[in-house]
Amino acid sequence: MESEQQALCMICKDVKEDGIHICTSFLCTDCESELVQTDVLDDKYAFFISQMRQIMLKKNA
Ligand SMILES: [Zn+2]
Repeated sequence: MESEQQALCMICKDVKEDGIHICTSFLCTDCESELVQTDVLDDKYAFFISQMRQIMLKKNA
């Protein structure tokens, strides 16, 4: 039985096995947990939102 496939995280640009797939992009568990703890005013959160927006725009295109 095949295990989880590795994917390139859209935030840290690292190849990880564990994480969530958002549309065609991937977010590793490390970045996901980091984002959960990140304040909405933090630059990282703004970066994440901009990344998400790009994904959404691609999806709706
Ligand atoms: Zn990551």
